[in-house]
Amino acid sequence: MNDKTRQLIDADRKHLWHPFTQMAAWAAGDPLVIEAGEGFELIDTEGRRYIDGVSSLWCNVHGHRALAIDRAIREQLDRIAHSTLLGLGQTRSIELAERLVGIAPPGLTRVFYSDSGATAVEIAVKMAYQYWYNRGANRRTKFVALRDSYHGDTVGSVSIGGIELFHGIFHSLLFETFFIPCPHPYRFDGTAEQCLRHSVDALEKLLQNRGDGIAAVIVEPRVQGAAGMIVHPAGFLKAVRDLTKKYDTLLIVDEVATGFGRTGTMFACEHESVNPDLLCLAKGITGGYLPLAATLATEQIFEAFLGAVAECKTFYHGHTYTGNALACAAAIASLDLFEQNKLLASLPEKIGLIADTLRPLGQLEHIGDIRQCGMMVGIEIVRDKRTKESFPFDQTLGAKLCMAMRPKGAILRPLGDVIVLMPAPGMDRATLQRLLDIVVDTLRNDLPQMIREL
Ligand SMILES: *Cc1c(COP(=O)(O)O)cnc(C)c1O
Repeated sequence: MNDKTRQLIDADRKHLWHPFTQMAAWAAGDPLVIEAGEGFELIDTEGRRYIDGVSSLWCNVHGHRALAIDRAIREQLDRIAHSTLLGLGQTRSIELAERLVGIAPPGLTRVFYSDSGATAVEIAVKMAYQYWYNRGANRRTKFVALRDSYHGDTVGSVSIGGIELFHGIFHSLLFETFFIPCPHPYRFDGTAEQCLRHSVDALEKLLQNRGDGIAAVIVEPRVQGAAGMIVHPAGFLKAVRDLTKKYDTLLIVDEVATGFGRTGTMFACEHESVNPDLLCLAKGITGGYLPLAATLATEQIFEAFLGAVAECKTFYHGHTYTGNALACAAAIASLDLFEQNKLLASLPEKIGLIADTLRPLGQLEHIGDIRQCGMMVGIEIVRDKRTKESFPFDQTLGAKLCMAMRPKGAILRPLGDVIVLMPAPGMDRATLQRLLDIVVDTLRNDLPQMIREL
């Protein structure tokens, strides 16, 4: 280890507090420090290269130092980095809004900017709540979400999130939300169709009993990422849309993870021709370059906020960096790259390569389930394939497997014992194959050894 790396690691241990990280374990570990990136690789302070196997936490799209995005940001710097959207317009944020409306599911015509997935969701929640209030239907104050769903870490987003581990401590801070079962075919005792019906019936029952109190239903479309890449049975999203229409409530779709090509289409909603009332975007929106998010709304929702100032229908919400010009410039350049590189058309081949390469792993003794939705993959490790029993979570088998991939040249981050693979949609075939080979080799050769040593 060179002196610079040692100094940086010392300073990191002394001053940083990493997200979702038990810092006691971090201090004892041997962290990598990333200094640069090139294409689909990250380069550490020792000059070692690693394939970025999870798109820098699900956000990178076209690779690192993508020339066109770099250039767009530099050109924007020569104009202005940031000016406020409170009472002023800004060229880039206007151009981007027009572009987003152009590619979003039909009916979404209004763009409200913020800076992270959590804020995009908070905004959707507050918009849905105030929408009913402004219309005088102020008994609609509750939200329905899926168990094990993840919508971000701010208090409002955690309230509609269904991951128990994050809920317990903060329980008294959170607002009450109704949860319905997550349609998880692998963990359901029955067919995929029965699994879908189980969740849909629960939703319908809830809407029948409490419908006039429900402001909106919120879902991650097609795949619940943070829950462990749970892929819903086909038709679930559409069924939820139909029920929200039938019972006259709003549908919020959180495409923070699934948006921008991740599932094989620009947005996951397209798989089931679903047009939500509110759509949350973040992560991949800037190609993974800068923090930016957008909440898209229908004209019907937007119009409910119009009126004289004294009517108090205004949406009193905003963030200082709302619509940041550098971030919007990056996002526009990213959308241009989608077109220039015909990125969406290139995805089916890569998605097929992933499926074909991983399929044989299903034969291995401890591989319980291989889930894939486009470029989003979860490989679940289990102790017993028949009972689907997991290993004790404090054995951190998923983390150990990902650590074993580092010397082979790949960086992955698991979700418990689910190995997550989320290559950037723009990743070239050769790099993708190398990444897949590392994953396959580790699961074939290192996993059995690790299990013997538990
Ligand atoms: C990551 C994620 C969020 C939160 O986004 P942040 O930018 O981390 O706040 C919200 N919803 C989903 C579905 C996500 O995957």
